[in-house]
Amino acid sequence: MKLSMFGRMFSSGSGIIQLMDDLGNALAKDEGVLMLGGGNPGYIPDVEEVFRRRMQRVLDDRAEFQRMIGNYDAPQGESEFIDALGALLRREFGWDVSSNNIAITNGSQSAFFMLFNMFAGLFEHGQRKRILLPLAPEYIGYADQGLTDDFFRASRPRIEYIDEHMFKYHVDFNAVSLTDDIGAICVSRPTNPTGNVLTDQEVNQLGQLAALHDIPLIIDSAYGTPFPHMIFTEATPVWNEHTVVTMSLSKLGLPGVRTGIVIAQPDTIDAIAGMNAVLNLASGSIGPALTLDLVKSGDIIQLSKDVIRPHYQRKSEQAINWLSKDLRDLDYYVHKPEGTMFLWIWFKDIPISSQDLYQRLKERGVLVVPGHHFFPGLGENWQHKHECIRVNHSQDPNAVKLGLKIIADEVKEAYAT
Ligand code: PLP
Repeated sequence: MKLSMFGRMFSSGSGIIQLMDDLGNALAKDEGVLMLGGGNPGYIPDVEEVFRRRMQRVLDDRAEFQRMIGNYDAPQGESEFIDALGALLRREFGWDVSSNNIAITNGSQSAFFMLFNMFAGLFEHGQRKRILLPLAPEYIGYADQGLTDDFFRASRPRIEYIDEHMFKYHVDFNAVSLTDDIGAICVSRPTNPTGNVLTDQEVNQLGQLAALHDIPLIIDSAYGTPFPHMIFTEATPVWNEHTVVTMSLSKLGLPGVRTGIVIAQPDTIDAIAGMNAVLNLASGSIGPALTLDLVKSGDIIQLSKDVIRPHYQRKSEQAINWLSKDLRDLDYYVHKPEGTMFLWIWFKDIPISSQDLYQRLKERGVLVVPGHHFFPGLGENWQHKHECIRVNHSQDPNAVKLGLKIIADEVKEAYAT
């Protein structure tokens, strides 16, 4: 069958397709694969219990059940949920948002497809615009989202060495170049894959650049605040007329319900609602229905800060502990884990590429994500891109412990050859 260019874009072996395949196959077959790849959040019993109880209440109430499964929501999203979320953001952060500033999408992944192609791509008079990722490495899921080629520009970070085995990336403002062809700036905060949290100063400076060029700064808050609040440091949440913030219910423990949230100026929200209508008719109603009470009461904040954050912080500390024992004598660095559920490990001067390491680990039943996928828009040859891997520590601790041990074995062998 002959596919159009559009069709081929989504079937040609992009990194995310290969990795989601590996992940899906491993989860489906459950053949003892140690799943340290992918972006699945952990299963937290206390959080699951909250959603189970809420689901039961909906099931027991005929009208609510009917509303959850029997209606298409408006293309902008379920209005009671949007009102409740607006009230929560005003109360909690003092953001000047109303219902006109919020839209619901089928997962934030699809929100990025809409936002990126709304702010970049082809413009009048043949002008081309791109998305600037001011700090690479960045989220793998952005790559391949552009409908035109050469869609991203990215900048190398500045590296701060914190101690013998820990480092942190910073935006290198000397390297960031905001040319006329940039249609929006985008950062994930906390960052997938590194667990970095951009400092307030960095976010403010990026915000000023965006305002100066009259383009949006998109802040991807999939791991951020007010939920799921997988942040282990202090970070001021930012939203203003030049900022688009995206949120998600996924890392709260609900990746299966596919609910994303966009907070932006009304014209952007109208465009998202229009695209939702064309592409999906409406977004799914289950996520908003399951979390409405929590958002209304504000309990979603306590759940995030008191249960979800400590859960992942503990896991991160434990994984670093195991790693430091397993890799004792090696020249490795871990990015300072300031949030998310990932460790970003850098094997300096390792003689094999992260792709080879990924393959060797896959053969030994350990799935990680090779680092070079996380540099969309950074065309230049930089050895560092091939020296890192991302490890997800959210799954069963025994699997994580064993997986880290196997990673250490393979890395030692690679250095020894
Ligand atoms: N943004 C980041 C940084 C992510 O890590 C993910 C998923 O892993 C997403 C967005 C998309 O998540 P979802 O579509 O489940 O909301």
